Order: sequence, then structure tokens, then C-alpha cells
Amino acid sequence: MAMTRRYATILTEDSSHQRLRKSKVAKKYVYSFADGDGKNKQLLGGKGANLCEMTQFGLNVPPGFVITTESCLDYLENDELPDGLMDEIRKEIAGLEKSTGKDFGGGKNPLLVSVRSGSALSMPGMMDTILNLGLNDETLAGLIEQTGDERFAYDAYRRFIQLFGKVALGIADEKFDPLFENVKKEAGVKADVGLKVEHLKEISGKFLDVVRTETGKDFPQDVVEQLELAVKAVFRSWMGKRAVDYRREFKITPEMANGTAVNVCTMVFGNRGDDCATGVGFTRNPGTGDNEMFGEYLVNAQGEDVVAGIRTPKPLSEMEQEMPKQYKELVELRNKLEEHYKEVQDYEFTIENGTLYCLQTRNGKMNAAATVQTSVEMFNEGLITREQALLRIDPELLEQLLHPRLDPESTEKPVATGLPASPGAASGKCVFDADRAEVMGEEGEKVILVREETRPEDIHGFFASEGILTSRGGKTSHAAVVARGMGKPCVAGAEGIIVDVEMRRAIVGEHIIHEGDVITLDGATGEVYIGTIPTLPPHFSDSLIELLSWADEIADLKVMANADTPEAATSAREYGAMGIGLCRTERMFNAVDRLPIVIDMILANTEEERKAVLDKLLPIQRADFIKIFTVMSPDPVTVRLLDPPMHEFLPTEHDLVEQIGRLELYRDVVRGRQAAMMAIDAPPLPEAFTELSEEHVSDALVKKQRMLQKVRELQETNPMLGHRGVRLGITYPEIYEMQIRAILEAAVECGKNGVKVRPEIMVPQVITAQELSQVRETTDRISAELGEGLEYSFGTMIETVRACTRAWHLAKSAEFFSFGTNDLTQAVFSFSREDAENKFLPLYNASGILQDNPFEVLDVKGVGRLIKTAVKDGRDQREGMKIGICGEQGGHPKTIEFCHEVGLSYVSCSGPRIPVARLAAANAKLRAESSASTEIRAPAAA
Ligand code: PEP
Ligand code: MG
Repeated sequence: MAMTRRYATILTEDSSHQRLRKSKVAKKYVYSFADGDGKNKQLLGGKGANLCEMTQFGLNVPPGFVITTESCLDYLENDELPDGLMDEIRKEIAGLEKSTGKDFGGGKNPLLVSVRSGSALSMPGMMDTILNLGLNDETLAGLIEQTGDERFAYDAYRRFIQLFGKVALGIADEKFDPLFENVKKEAGVKADVGLKVEHLKEISGKFLDVVRTETGKDFPQDVVEQLELAVKAVFRSWMGKRAVDYRREFKITPEMANGTAVNVCTMVFGNRGDDCATGVGFTRNPGTGDNEMFGEYLVNAQGEDVVAGIRTPKPLSEMEQEMPKQYKELVELRNKLEEHYKEVQDYEFTIENGTLYCLQTRNGKMNAAATVQTSVEMFNEGLITREQALLRIDPELLEQLLHPRLDPESTEKPVATGLPASPGAASGKCVFDADRAEVMGEEGEKVILVREETRPEDIHGFFASEGILTSRGGKTSHAAVVARGMGKPCVAGAEGIIVDVEMRRAIVGEHIIHEGDVITLDGATGEVYIGTIPTLPPHFSDSLIELLSWADEIADLKVMANADTPEAATSAREYGAMGIGLCRTERMFNAVDRLPIVIDMILANTEEERKAVLDKLLPIQRADFIKIFTVMSPDPVTVRLLDPPMHEFLPTEHDLVEQIGRLELYRDVVRGRQAAMMAIDAPPLPEAFTELSEEHVSDALVKKQRMLQKVRELQETNPMLGHRGVRLGITYPEIYEMQIRAILEAAVECGKNGVKVRPEIMVPQVITAQELSQVRETTDRISAELGEGLEYSFGTMIETVRACTRAWHLAKSAEFFSFGTNDLTQAVFSFSREDAENKFLPLYNASGILQDNPFEVLDVKGVGRLIKTAVKDGRDQREGMKIGICGEQGGHPKTIEFCHEVGLSYVSCSGPRIPVARLAAANAKLRAESSASTEIRAPAAA
């Protein structure tokens, strides 16, 4: 029988019977901040672990305790709190009473607590929190007496009733908010701080009524019952819709975070007068990376006011004047946090009657530019090593640096300016709620979510939007934090904009923006424009160039580009490509000046005809290769011979039938017109009419009909598994011969010009060594013709299952392999990418049948296994063989980790993925080294 989840089973030796027996040890579910292991985020959640750590290294954290993630899982499984948990909680509460001198539920000096969620990975705003817990009729009276501040006490009470009502009792905000707004309206007050004690009293009374009406019971007066209900509610929020959506979107697996911990912490108040404040800070500027005090605060306010954007906070720089002593302490706090964590921290603080408390810290989420800059600067300051500087950056983040910027030449004037909350530029249609954003986003529209302020329940709208615009809130508001995390542009607190959700419009000065109108945001400046503004590609900062040069020094894998034209090669160089791993020659065929020649080649009826056309293509291809080789010199360029089925260069049957129909119609018109003119003896028509004679039309018709006939001849049931790749090269050897000649002649020409090149000729779709040796013979023959000293290498793509299993044989003629994992994945899964992605793959991913899209992230378990075998067999035949990957997965960090592990020589990916791949290649090596050293250490320690 499986052991119960509440007990850990340990084996002990029974000395009298010399037998092993099982004994049950009660699990510990609750840890005080003074005792918890600050490194154990899985058990205590990130927030809880950090509260323990901060307490233990001497920061001023209000006393409290953490309830473990294990208790959460237990509760969710059994629908009841684990045995003994409430006893442990009562014990910890007694400890808090002792250390604070306060009394939980007592009228004299009441202890109030916050109850906050916190899982191993930060999921900002996705789960629930309750503040001011412990208030009831008695403690409220006590609080009034103790503070002498009735307004403060009633303010705390009404906040608590609403939050507790929403989170623990499931009463929607809409039941409370209108009552609050009504009282404000009647009192003629705009901001919450303008409400007087009688208003807050009235609101509290109305809120208690709401609870009674909605639940059929009075608001719970027993503070331990309040705590129990709150803990359960926070546990349940782990499975709430927004938390589940968030985990799915960010692929947070149970190994990364499982269940939420609950942090119960003594309340300290930032809203007890003008010597109180609350704020949030970053140890460095998360927008630019600059090493400066950064953050926002509000005097006489509670934390939720800052985060929810209900009042627009002031920058921390103003605190230096307003509260100089506390500002100095805050600077010290910031320095201690960075020195201790060796990472940029995102922290929350409260000042209660002049005393500064740190309420929370976590690693700061920054945009890519800031992350890169802080890595380089923290290394230069001696805070971290180069390896740490690389490893702290998620390679995917670099993709953000490739976001476009607004064209500075644009003369368009912004209609509003808010805070530059998350950089990048985006244009899209305005939408005023998250649901509509989701619907329009799914329809393929580019949308900008425009809200007065956002809340965690808007998260699906963020996913669907290109950018976020809010009219309230600061740089640390919900909208700003979430957009930054997602790398989407955000303009927050654009106060000049009046958002009217009901009328589905926003008013900006004299402009009215209706839902569906296009606007543009510049998240780097905070500017908002009507219409679409042109954008410019981004540029590399010096920090990024430096960081990537460290990565290149460390990585074993080389990073090559998939580039098909001289222009793409030039841009790949700028991204840091170390050569070209895949140049698809057919893409050169598609250019407007070549396509007609290629079509003539396909329409050719005899080998002679075909050769004559190929003679025209040869100089064009050669000229392209000369340019590409020159851009990449002296690095290698791997040129793949023609791959796609021929019909891809011809119009579709449907189009041709339609065109032929129209041409026939036109021919009849021309004939009819001629007949009519003869009949009525009309004067001759102007030249423009006679130019398109029956003869012209008939010529065009004959050509189209030949094309149609060819298209029908070439038709295949399954073209991707049909007459393509090397199979074309075997049936029409003159095509490959022309291409090989163009490549080698280009190399000779480059050599004459002093440009060092070493082309690599690569054959696609190979299944057997015989195919390969035939193409190799042609290559060697042409090379011999061109003279001695021509350096090139010859290799094959491995993109069929059979090629994987015959790698040992293929390696006899192939000097290198390149895994074409686009085709190989289709072959291994036995489904086509287009069908899979359009029909069932999203469901497979959403339901967890497949964790990733195998066309984006290499399927290590299946495709990866074949790759491993092929690598081994290939290198058994040809020692140290150069082997790479050129399918799209090659630019993904998870794939790169695998490629490093199996000892590939390079990965090749599209230009903009190159910086991501360079960093991922270094990080893969560093991670492998650090896990190897732990493995080596482990037995010694055991
Ligand atoms: C591949 O199959 O992975 C590959 C790179 O070739 P293509 O995508 O051109 O078929
Ligand atoms: Mg392929």
C-alpha cells in the first residue's frame, strides 16, 4: 500500500530483531522566518525562502512564518488541510504574539497579519493575497484606541472585508466596487485619500452587508477561522484559471514549481500618517540596466495602492528630499540585497512611523537590454564571474533586443504621453477589454489592449496583444510588470487618455479613438500615436557585443546561419554568424529574374533543351555564390543542392486553368472584334488595340497549356515524400552538375581575387550511400576539371530515417553531416508540419500530450535518439567528423543544449536567432560542466 502523504517513511534498524521496520515521522508544515531554509524554494516558495533568508542575514523583516508547498498539494489532493497543520499555525501565531508583544484577536494591541501566496517560481499577481487579517469588531475597536486613528482603522477594515470577501468567500469585486464609488461620489471626493472616517465607516458597514447577503452568514469574527479560510483560499488559487493559464503560457512544469506556499507575516502599515510610506524598488533600473536607485513610493498608502496603480506613485528620487533618513536606509537596504543575492533584486518595502521594513525580494525581471547591461556591469564591478554573467541570462530574452524601434525620422506627433513602462514599439487595433483582445488576437488581428489599469484577470488579453496602454498606474503597476516580463511594449499611466469601456472608446484631447482604430505605442518613450508609425530594426549595444564575445570564447558549438542570398549573408554576419550552415539554392531560383528561366528548364522536353536553359542559369548562380562566399570569407559556406519538387516553381493547376480560361475568352474577343470590324468596314484601330493580336494571345495560351500539362505530369500524391532532393539530382544529373559547377567555379574565381573560401556541397534527402557516391563522382570530376588546389568538402543532409540508420555507410563519401530536423521530425512523427500545426498540435501541447512543438524544439526523446545513433555511427566511420544541425529547431536553447550534449560541431539557424544561439551554446557548456562537477563531487560527499 502506498504510504500516506502526511508521513515520511524512513527505514531504521531494529536492534532486537535485526530487522528493518518502517516508522512514521510527522511532517513539518510550517517554518518561522527565523528557521526556514532560505535555499529551499521548492518547499517554501520563492517569496517565503527569501523572507527566511533576509531575516537570517539581518534585514528588518516583520516577523512571520511560511506554510509549505507540500501542505498546499496535500490540501488540493484531499480537499482538507493536512492533520496537524492548524496546530502548527497556532504555535507560530503564539510565537509571533511573543516576538511582537501583540495579541491575535485581542482588543488591546491587536496582531494583524498578511497572508500571501508564493510558489517556487515567481508568478506575479497570479495567485491571491489577503491583508489586514485579524480584524473583527473587537480588534477594530482596539486598533482605533491604540492608534488613535479611526480613519486608518476603518480604511484597513474595509480593505480587509473586500479582499477577504473576494479571495476567501468568492464574492466578486463588482459587488463591492460600485458601493465604494457611490460613497465617493456622494462625498464629492475624487481620490480615496479624500474619504473621511464617516465615509469609510459607512463603506465598511455596506461591505459587511454584502458578505451577509452573498454568503448568508455574518463576516467571520473568529480570527483563527479567518486565517484558516484564508490559507485554504490561497492554496486553491494555485489551481485558479489565471494561475493555470500562466503556467501553461510560460511552460512552468511541476518540477519547476509545484503548489504555492503561504506566507503569514505581521502587518506593518504604510498608511498610518505622513511618516509612513510604501513602495517598490529595483536595485538597478530594469528598463535600461543603469546602476541607480529605481522605484516608486507613496506616502501614507498601502502596498496594493502602488501595485494596482490606484494612485500614481512618485519616483524614489523624490524620497531623498521628503524622507532623507529613510531614504538613506533604503540605499543601504538596496546595497545589502545586491551584495547578498548577487543579482538585481525587485523588492517591496514599507515605512511604518519612520521605521523601514523589507517585505519581499525576488530576482528582478528586466528587459533584455537591461539584463545584458547589468550582466556586463556586475562582472566589471567584481560582483559576479563571467560565467555567472552569462548563465543569469535566459538566451530567449535576447530575442527582445531584435524588436523594432519607431523610426526617429517620423514626423508624426504623439497624441498622449505616459510612462515608458516596457520598451519596444507596436501598432495595432485598440481593444478595451481582455476578452475582446483574446478573440481578435485569435482571429489574427494585431491588437493593443487599452485599459484604465490592468488586473491579474486580464492576463489572457496580454498574451493576445502586441502592446499594452493604461491611463493609470506607474512603472511598477501590474500592466508594466507583466508586459516587461513578456517583452511586450507598454505605456502606463498615460493620464491624458480617458478610457470609456462602456462606449468602447478612448478620448485623448480632441481625438476620439474607437475600438478597432489603429494606434502605435513606443514603450521606450511612453508616447502614443494615432495610426501606424514606421519602425526600424534594432541595433546591438556594446554590452551585448561584449557578452556574446565571452559566449563565443566559452562555447564548443559554432553558430552558423541559414542564409540564401548575399543580403541575408551580410545580415547574418552582423548577428555574429560563424559561417553559413545552410544555403538553400532553390530560394535563389525564385527571384523574379530567374523564375522564368527555371520554368523553361522544367518545361524542357529533352536533355539538350534542359542543358541549354541550365547554361543560362549557371552564370547567375555562380555570381550569387561569389557574393555570398566573399561576405562569409574565410568562414565555410554550406550550399545545398536543389531540394524541392519541381512543381513548386510552377503555378498551381487551379491558377493555370483559370488563366487559360481567361486567355481563351480574350482570344475570342479579339477574333470577334476582327470579324465585326470587317463586317462594318470600320477604320483601322489605334495601335494599342492591335498590339495584343490573336497571335500574341495564342502564343501565351500554348505556353500556359504546356505548363498545365507539366503540372499535371508532375502531380504527386505526397510531394514532400516524392520526386525531390537527391532523387531529382539522380534523374536529372545535369541540374546538379550545373549547380556543382557554379559553386566550384565561384570558389576558383574568389581564389583568383584573393578571397579565401572553402565551399561545402551538401546533398539533400539522401537515403542510401549509392545516391551519395554518384553525386560525389560528379563533384570530383568537375573539381578535377577545374584544376589542382581547389578546396571544398562534400557532405549530406541527414533528414530521412533511413539516413540515420545508414550513417556509417554514408560517412564513407560524406565528409560532414547536417541534420535536417524539419524533414526528419516529420518523418519520425509521421505527420506533416502544416497539418499538425493547423489541426491538432495546439491541443496536444495544451493538454500536455506533447510538451513542446517538435518543429520548434527538437524532440530529444524520439528524433534525438536517432541523431545520437547517427552521430556515433558517422564518427565510427570518419573520426572527428564535422556534424551539425540546420533544421529550424537549431536556434532553440533546449535543442542547443542537446546538441552540445551529443557533441555536434555546430548549429545553424536563421539570422535573428543567432545571438540567442550563441548565448545558449555557451550556457549549455557551462551547465554541463557544473552538473559534471556536482556528479563528480557527489560520491565523495556520500
Ligand atoms: C530540414 O529538413 O530540416 C531542412 C533544413 O530542409 P528544408 O527545411 O529546406 O526541407
Ligand atoms: Mg529538408
